[in-house]
Amino acid sequence: MDTYQDCTLLHVDADGFFAGVEQALNPALRGRPVVTGAERGIIAAASYEAKALGIKRGLQLHEAKALCPDLVILPSDYEAYSLYSLRMLDILRRFTPLVEEYSIDEAFADLSGCGDVLACPLETVAERLRNTVSSEMGLTVSVGISLTKTLSKLCSKFRKPNGQTVLRREHVPLMLKRTPVAKVWGIGPASAAKLQAKGIATALDFTRMDEAAVLRLLHKPGHETWRELQGRRVFPLDLEGKRSYDSMMKGHTFSPPSDDPRLVFSEALRNMTNAIAKLRRHAHLAREIGLSLRLKDYTAQTACAPLPAPTGHDCEAAPFLRALFDALFTPGQLYRSTLVWFGGLVSERNRQLDLFEETPARHDYGRLDAAVDRINARYGQHAVAPAALLDRSLKPYHSRDAAPERYGTLMHGESARHLAIPRMTLGNPV
Ligand SMILES: [Mg+2]
Repeated sequence: MDTYQDCTLLHVDADGFFAGVEQALNPALRGRPVVTGAERGIIAAASYEAKALGIKRGLQLHEAKALCPDLVILPSDYEAYSLYSLRMLDILRRFTPLVEEYSIDEAFADLSGCGDVLACPLETVAERLRNTVSSEMGLTVSVGISLTKTLSKLCSKFRKPNGQTVLRREHVPLMLKRTPVAKVWGIGPASAAKLQAKGIATALDFTRMDEAAVLRLLHKPGHETWRELQGRRVFPLDLEGKRSYDSMMKGHTFSPPSDDPRLVFSEALRNMTNAIAKLRRHAHLAREIGLSLRLKDYTAQTACAPLPAPTGHDCEAAPFLRALFDALFTPGQLYRSTLVWFGGLVSERNRQLDLFEETPARHDYGRLDAAVDRINARYGQHAVAPAALLDRSLKPYHSRDAAPERYGTLMHGESARHLAIPRMTLGNPV
């Protein structure tokens, strides 16, 4: 009989992750308000010291500086964040092999069957996990353990940062009573508004609703959450990992904003070459290409087009990018960023061969791209690149062009400037 019975679902969530990694990499930053996102002009992540001053994600940098003149503003270093994410998962796997990588800084794990092996109370498991991450990685995480994913997610949020909460069946109602229904994982603003209109304020009120009424009001997804909150497991762990991808995207903000079509197109093309090179590294092909142009006022124009055959070649994708660009670009408007994504991804192994495709040309594209990738891996990104990228030099230098100071050096365990794990995967971009 397992010591933990049904209270075995663990959720771990790193505290202010990107900023935490920066503080771990540079101890001089510990205890100081740190934010990342210098390259975008918008805050991507804030350390707890910065959060305490009212600085949060999404704020403009100049607004944040007004709140805190001593703010440390850093450009994002996604490779470092990915590496730290892998380290956190490795530590978690010392406790149980049943680990779901949920996002770059969150994971679920199932401890069932581990009770007799770990031979310690759940509180000790959570404590050991937190202590191991903090001593080996230099950053803190919060841990929740309960009956279901939805409940363990509530628990990890309950005492943040560097906190832990174990919620056994008998105490579930107490936790639900102090949780506003809008704070439940899976209840979005629209569902929360519908529930509040019916007088449902807390998660406990929600679980006490009649099953038929829940189904009528929120349909299947809301009903699943309703069951999970009652301690019945509906959502299984996804142990497959991110072995296949829905889409791959690259975006970049430039400053100052520009109305020069050559510059804006060269920015888009650069994102395309980066995204498609990444696609090739992961042995995938795309069936669709998308482009989003963001204006100075943050509104975006977006379009996508199907590719005639699944491809991973620059030469085949570029004409479609050009067509999308010509359809979207409006003269006289100021643009501040471009984003390119590839969708409808298929693994190279699973590609259906097209009877009528021009194989000799494709064969040459394949050899060309492989050669370019090898040169760029050796001499740096864009050592060989389309000539149109030279138009990027039309842009005046700006402090936001800064790259992380760490660039040029590798961390322990890092073999190249890029890690072999794409993180920017979204089903429905923009
Ligand atoms: Mg987090």
